[in-house]
Amino acid sequence: MIIDGHNDLVLRRWRGEPSPHLDLDAALAAGFAGGFFALYIPSPHPPDPTEIPYALPLPESIPFEEAARIADELFDTLCGLPVARARSADDFRAGRITAIVHMEGAEAIAADLSNLEQWYGRGLRSIGPVWSRANAFASGVPFRFPSTPDIGPGLTDAGCALVRACNELGILVDLSHLNEAGFWDVARLSDAPLVATHSNAHALCAASRNLTDAQLAAIRDSGGVAGVNFAVTFLREDGMQVVDTPLSEIVRHVAYLTERMGIDHVALGSDFDGAVVPDELGGAAGLPKLVGALHDAGFDDAALAKITHENWLRIFRATWR
Ligand code: ZN
Repeated sequence: MIIDGHNDLVLRRWRGEPSPHLDLDAALAAGFAGGFFALYIPSPHPPDPTEIPYALPLPESIPFEEAARIADELFDTLCGLPVARARSADDFRAGRITAIVHMEGAEAIAADLSNLEQWYGRGLRSIGPVWSRANAFASGVPFRFPSTPDIGPGLTDAGCALVRACNELGILVDLSHLNEAGFWDVARLSDAPLVATHSNAHALCAASRNLTDAQLAAIRDSGGVAGVNFAVTFLREDGMQVVDTPLSEIVRHVAYLTERMGIDHVALGSDFDGAVVPDELGGAAGLPKLVGALHDAGFDDAALAKITHENWLRIFRATWR
């Protein structure tokens, strides 16, 4: 059973686009049991780095009213998928796909948090306060390579209130896409395990979206998890968008995160349908190939169970109410 930290299938379906990685029947046959399904309000001109080095500006902010309308449509799209909605860790089981309602960027949450409980009632169980674009809660980390993630200010007062409210309600706070100042603000404020759903090791790939060794140590010390992102630009040492990237690049990040944090703190966060992933993997149907490559690299069955699902389930039990 494979639980995954991030996919953008909902955006693809909302736009009426084909899904390059997540054919749900094929995914199910490959052991995919679901995970975080992002409600992501797209920016008009999504960045697409083609040269190294790159330093893309943060996209424009999105006003609340517009975001709230689109988020409603995205949520309806998710509800139309043949998946169960996760409200507790026990909702995940082999042989079906379970979706965590996850907001990637909290633009659709009012700055005074007045609609947060309503979203919780709809099943919202995870929020990334920002995608890589500023909003009422925080500044995102701009896409840059090579670059430190330490770019820009941390959480706003509304962002601090959002983290506290998420702790109270039992909503997971996702650190992927936060800049470093925002990361440390959440680390100080939150009483839940720290989670980066889809981010890699900065020591191996110096993208601004990846996690420094100090951030990894904080995640480990909190009992948290980092989900390894399959996006080639966050895997490769040269940061290049090259589909001809071997599966061993994913294995390299899993091994490094395990070495730094221990096996209890490493999971998968594919970014399926939202990023360019290695051709050798293809999509969710290729997950057994990845598990085989990890096995060949020395991860035994107990370790693979933790990476593929047990670590995520522990996080859900510790975070959700
Ligand atoms: Zn993302």
